[in-house]
Amino acid sequence: MPALAIDSYRCNGCGSCCEMCPEVFGLTPLTSRAQLLNPDQEVTEDVRRAAAFCPKKCILVSGEDIDA
Ligand code: SF4
Repeated sequence: MPALAIDSYRCNGCGSCCEMCPEVFGLTPLTSRAQLLNPDQEVTEDVRRAAAFCPKKCILVSGEDIDA
């Protein structure tokens, strides 16, 4: 099963992922970087789209080729 993670070091806090998938991504109040609201989040089509639009390419989907 594909796993989802955010490289918070590279995240610039633009909030694009949060706007596209507010039920999946949120900005942490302390650092204003994106975080997963549910660590066991499934990789849905909307999540893949948010990852594709992330300007820092820091939404990481392992176990599958996100360029496919
Ligand atoms: S779209 Fe990418 S850079 Fe922007 S907040 Fe989300 S994870 Fe961070």
